[in-house]
Order: sequence, then structure tokens, then C-alpha cells
Amino acid sequence: MEYQDKGEKLQRNAWIRMDDREVQQAYDLSKEYLGFLNQARTEREAIAYIIEKAAQEGFVNLDSQKGFTPGQKLFYTSRQKVCALIVIGEEPLEKGVNWVVSHIDSPRLDLKGRPLYEADGIALLKTHYYGGIKKYQWLALPLALHGVVVKADGTRLDICLGEKEEDPVLTISDLLPHLAKEQMEKKMGEAISGEGLNAVIGNRPEKETDQNPIKAYVARLLKDKYGIEEDDFTTAELELVPAFPARDVGLDASMVGGYGQDDRVSAFTALKAILEVEKPEKTAICLFADKEEIGSTGNTGLDSLMIENLMVELLQRSGEKDYFTLRRSLSASHALSADVNAAVDPNYPDVWEKMNNSFLANGVVLTKFTGSRGKSGSSDANPEFMGRVRRLFEENQVVWQVGELGKVDIGGGGTVAQYLARYGMEVVDCGVALLGMHSPFEVASKADIYMAYKAYRAFLQELPE
Ligand code: MN
Ligand code: MN
Repeated sequence: MEYQDKGEKLQRNAWIRMDDREVQQAYDLSKEYLGFLNQARTEREAIAYIIEKAAQEGFVNLDSQKGFTPGQKLFYTSRQKVCALIVIGEEPLEKGVNWVVSHIDSPRLDLKGRPLYEADGIALLKTHYYGGIKKYQWLALPLALHGVVVKADGTRLDICLGEKEEDPVLTISDLLPHLAKEQMEKKMGEAISGEGLNAVIGNRPEKETDQNPIKAYVARLLKDKYGIEEDDFTTAELELVPAFPARDVGLDASMVGGYGQDDRVSAFTALKAILEVEKPEKTAICLFADKEEIGSTGNTGLDSLMIENLMVELLQRSGEKDYFTLRRSLSASHALSADVNAAVDPNYPDVWEKMNNSFLANGVVLTKFTGSRGKSGSSDANPEFMGRVRRLFEENQVVWQVGELGKVDIGGGGTVAQYLARYGMEVVDCGVALLGMHSPFEVASKADIYMAYKAYRAFLQELPE
């Protein structure tokens, strides 16, 4: 079934299904979303944005609260890389929670612990990429440096260089085509090496310094501007991200292009959704997690006890003394694993299976399973639960479509769904389809962004039996 067949397929186009008022709302929502993408370029910046917005809407820190009442709004945060927004429900926590779980980390280039060196009269920074990237996409781009440095005395410095118009940027050079004959004959995956992703940071020598004068000048600037010594990089977390803003795409401006939409499109729409949830039946929680792109590892990733620790805080502070209530609450819960899927891309016709893959502007994508080589590593959602989500979407005029990641044997991927399913809770992947996922300029449809927001809002407010 081709998309061009009109008829049934076009009926599913979200723009066709929306009235004028909703179309306007979709454009308005994406305007705010562009601002979020431009402000939240890293996991820490996303968390800061989310907490600021939630605090403005009356969410208060769980740390300071006890004995909750339905409708109460709380936030929980950990290590400035994770947060949860909570709206207490009418029913006790033991009856389960409705979760929408997204991630706020995105593929990028991290600096190594000893990054700075000089070669051929240029000062460079060594990087170690984070997440699944196609290395060639990171060459010949303006790059901004974001993150934190912990100095020898323990003080922490926040760095953001390359975002303001007057800021200088960094860049990784690409080889000129004139000298790339051998390189061009290599396999794409081998043409650029990880050790070749070194970012240019300086080209001016320190006077009267014989040894590595270019590096010395950069080192002095780091000292003068930021008070950073070279050894301070060993206790830093610095990330290079594309240094250009997210933009409208298309003559119709119907799409958004920009870095980090996997998975900040889910984070933003989940945030907008929970800010509108009032006195839900079950307690509603939006969790914004880190480290999904490298397997949800570490103490800010979902393969930790983060969810249990959050629930222990909630239960204990609501006066619950029985530890087993934690297990019952988690296994009685329902979750949308809010993450992106790949949209069918007409430039690469060979990798898709168009009856089951998702299309731009055909609504939010429900993905029953992910994984690779025969669903391996996937949490395969139960159809009984999916049926409830399907009815919820139909009742709330959420335009949705099915999704799978390309043809069966072509590749694969995963999300956080499996780390939620381990508690026994029902979970299904639900998010926006992207063109160019993991690239420095991912593209999403404004109609799909709007439908994700509607989907999450309906789910958080009430999931009918
Ligand atoms: Mn993702
Ligand atoms: Mn991803």
C-alpha cells in the first residue's frame, strides 16, 4: 500500500483530520517547542527548563512534602540529569500510576578527560562520541560546547560556548574532495574514525613560548576566561552539540528541524501534557530520564533503581509503611514509553516496509515492539493494554499510526520500555516519527508533535478500563 494511493491512507493524515482550530494549536505548540530545543541542548539544560516551567505552574519539590491530597503537584529531581513531575491521583498509589517516560539525552560528542593538544599549528580537543552517530554528519559543522567543569577546589562551573550570535564556535574539519580519493573508496562506516573527531579550538600562538605555543595560548584563555586548569578537564562533563538553532522546515512550515528531537520531542510534549492534568484518577507521573542513548546505564539511566527510589519516596511520604506496596504499585502501573520512531524516508526507499512503518504527519506512533533480529531485546506490548490505549486515542481524537523500525532484517533499535516492563507494569512505545533520527538536524511533523501532546495528556488524565 503506497502513501500516494490516497483513499484510506490519506484519511489517516493528521492535518486532514484536524479542524482549523487544532491546526493553529499545532503551529502554536511547535513555536514554543522550537524555543525549548534552542534552550535545552543537553540533558542538564532540559531538566533545568522542565523544572522551571513546572515550578511556575505550582509544582513543588517532593523533598519538602508529606501526606498528599488528590490534585497535588510535585517534582522530584536527581543529579540535575533526571526529573519527575507528579500529579497525585484520586486513587491510592497501590492502584498503580500512569507513567509517561521520555529521555532527555541525545547523541553528541563528549570531550575526553585529557582533550587538549596541538598538531600542525592548530589546537584541538579530543572527543569520544556518545550514542549512535554516523560520524561523517559531525564534520564541517559549527559546534557549541556545553557542560560542567568541577575544579580542584570542588567548585562547579557551567559552560555554554557557541550559542550566542557573538560567541565563537568549534568545528571538526572534513577532508577536501581533492585529496579524498582514497577516503571516498572506503566503506562509509570506516571513512571517519572515532579518533579523527577532534575539534578545532585555536590557531594563535602564545608569544615567547617554544613548546606547543598554540595549545599554550588556548590554555591561558581557558584560565583567564573560566579559571580552568588543564587538569580540570579530568573532572568535567563537556559536550559538543550542533551550534545552529532549530527551525521551521518546508514552505508550509509544517515541520520542525533541529538537533536533539530524539527524545526531547517526547520530553517537551509530555511536559506540556502534565502541566494540564488536573486531579487524575490514578497518580500521573512524567519521568524524564538520562542515558537512554547508551543503554540506560548509570545512576541517571533507567536500568538503575531510580523508579523504585522515586516510588519509595512517594509512598513513604504519603504515610505508607508496607514495603510490598511498592511492588504492587509498580506492577499495577501503566506506561507509555515516550520515544521517537523512524518515519518512512523517500530518499532511502529500500529500508522500509510501508504497511507497518510510520509516516510523517500520520499521527503519533504506537510501536508494539522494538529490538532487532527477531524482536531481540524488545518489550513486546500486550494487545489487551494496546486495545485500551487505542480506545483512549479514538475517544480523544488522537490521530495515531502503527510503527516498526524499518524492514525486519535491516537493523533495529530499542527504548526504555524494557526497563519499565521489568516491574510487571503494562508498557508500550508511543512517540513522534522523525526523518534523519540521530542526525544534527532531525525533522518532525508539527501535526505529530501536537498529537503526541494530546496522547500523553489523555493517558495521564485517565486510562479507561
Ligand atoms: Mn530515543
Ligand atoms: Mn535515540
